[in-house]
Amino acid sequence: MLNKTYKEQLQTWDKQYLWHPFTQMQDYVKETPLIIEEGNGVFLKDVNGKEYIDGISSMWCNIHGHRKKEIDDAIKRQLDKIAHTTLLGPSNIPAIELAKSLVGIAPKGLTKVFYSDNGSTANEVALKMAFQYWQHKGFKDKTQFVALQYGYHGDTIGTMSVGGIEIFHGAFRPLYFKTYLAPSPYCYRCPLGKQPPNCSLACLDKLEDILKENPGRIAAMIMEPLVQGAGGMIIHPSGYLSGVHALCKKYNVLLILDEVLTGFGRTGKMFACLHENIVPDIMSLSKGINGGYMPLAATLATEEIYNAFLGTYTELKTFFHGHTYTGNPLGCAAALASMELFEKEHILENLEPKIKHLQTKLKSFESLNYVGDVRQCGLIAAIELVRDKTTKEPYPWEERVGIQVCLEARKLGLLIRPLGHIIVIMPPLIIKIHEIDRLLDIIRESIQTVISSELR
Ligand SMILES: *Cc1c(COP(=O)(O)O)cnc(C)c1O
Repeated sequence: MLNKTYKEQLQTWDKQYLWHPFTQMQDYVKETPLIIEEGNGVFLKDVNGKEYIDGISSMWCNIHGHRKKEIDDAIKRQLDKIAHTTLLGPSNIPAIELAKSLVGIAPKGLTKVFYSDNGSTANEVALKMAFQYWQHKGFKDKTQFVALQYGYHGDTIGTMSVGGIEIFHGAFRPLYFKTYLAPSPYCYRCPLGKQPPNCSLACLDKLEDILKENPGRIAAMIMEPLVQGAGGMIIHPSGYLSGVHALCKKYNVLLILDEVLTGFGRTGKMFACLHENIVPDIMSLSKGINGGYMPLAATLATEEIYNAFLGTYTELKTFFHGHTYTGNPLGCAAALASMELFEKEHILENLEPKIKHLQTKLKSFESLNYVGDVRQCGLIAAIELVRDKTTKEPYPWEERVGIQVCLEARKLGLLIRPLGHIIVIMPPLIIKIHEIDRLLDIIRESIQTVISSELR
C-alpha cells in the first residue's frame, strides 16, 4: 500500500493534471478523488485499501473479473514475443487466430473481421463500410443513415452523427451528416403514447415511414440490439429487432448492429441478435471482446460487403481505413484467452441462474417509492427513479439524484455510475449469487438514504 503523503500527492496531481471523460471537472476537483490501485474478481481496491464491488464492470467491459489468471498469462506470454506490430501490410499470430475464432462464434454469415481499438472506431468503420459499399455497387445516392432516438454509438464525429442523446450530441449538431432518428421502443415512456404490449410495435411503422419516404437515399440503419445502453438502458420489446431486420431487407437498407455493449454474453447469449435469430450485414464489437482488459474492437462484415471492395488497385475500391494499433497482438491474445474461458468455464450456461436470481430480486424494487421502472436483459439491469410514480415525472437531471445514489453506494462498497436518474447494474459475468445480493442491498439502501434526505 502507498504511504499517506504519496496518496495525497496523487490526489493533488489527479486534480492538477487530469481531465476526466464525461466529468464536470469543476465539481470533480471539490471532492476527494477515488483512485483505484488494484482489483481481484469482482472487487476493486482503492489506494486506501477500501474494497468495492465493480458494479458496472469497469464501464461495461469486464467479463471474467479482474486479474483473471488465464488472461494475465496470455498477455504475459504474448509480451515475451512481441507487444505490437502493425497490421497495415504484415499480419500477426493472435490477430489471425482471433479473427477465425470470432467468425466461429458470430452469427452465421459474418465472415470477415476488421480490427480497430474502441467501440467508436468499430462503428466508424461500420458506417464507412456501409456508405462505400453502396458507392461501389453504383447506388451513389445511398448516403444517409437511420438510427434510433436515444441511440449511442460513440463519441467521434461520425458516430455522434448517428447518436440520439440530446444532452451528449446536441452541441455538435452542425458538424453532422444526414441521419433520420426513428422513435426508440422505450416502452416505459412510449414515444407514441401507446400501452405496450398491446401496441403491435407501432414504433416500427414510424421507422417504415422514414424508409418509405426516402427511397434510394438510405445506406444503412444502425442500432444497438435489445439494449440501448448510454441512452438509459432502454430494453426493447421482443420482436422489435426482427421487425427492424425485416424492414431493412424490404427497403434494401443495410443493417449495422452495434453490439459493443451487448456482445460477449451480457444479454445471456453470446450476441444480442441471437435472441431474435437475425444476422446483420455489419456488426461492431468492443467492450467485452477481451474481457475488458485492453483497447480492442472488431467490425464484422458479410462476404457480400467484403466482395464489393474487391477490384484492381487503380479502381480505388480499397477500404481506406486503419488505426495504428489495429489488431494489437496483446489485445488479441487477451481476447483469445477470454474466448477460451467462455468455453472452459461455461460462462453462458452459468449465467442463467444468475439472470433468474437478479430478476427475482429486482421485483422487490418495483414497490419502492420513487422507483418508476425496473428493467433487465440478461445481466444488465436499470432502475429508473422518478419523482412521481403515477405521472412518471422524471427527476430533473440538474438534481443529480443518480449521482447522489452512486456516491452513497460508494460509501457502502459498491462502485456504480448512473445515467442521469437511472441507476445502472452491470456486474462482471462471473459475479456470484451472494455478490448480486450484496450489490442490490447496497443499491436499495443508497436509494432510500438519498430519497429520504431529499424529502427532508
Ligand atoms: C461504449 C459504447 C460505444 C463506444 O465505445 P468506446 O470504446 O467508448 O468508444 C459504442 N456503442 C455502444 C453501444 C457502447 O455502449
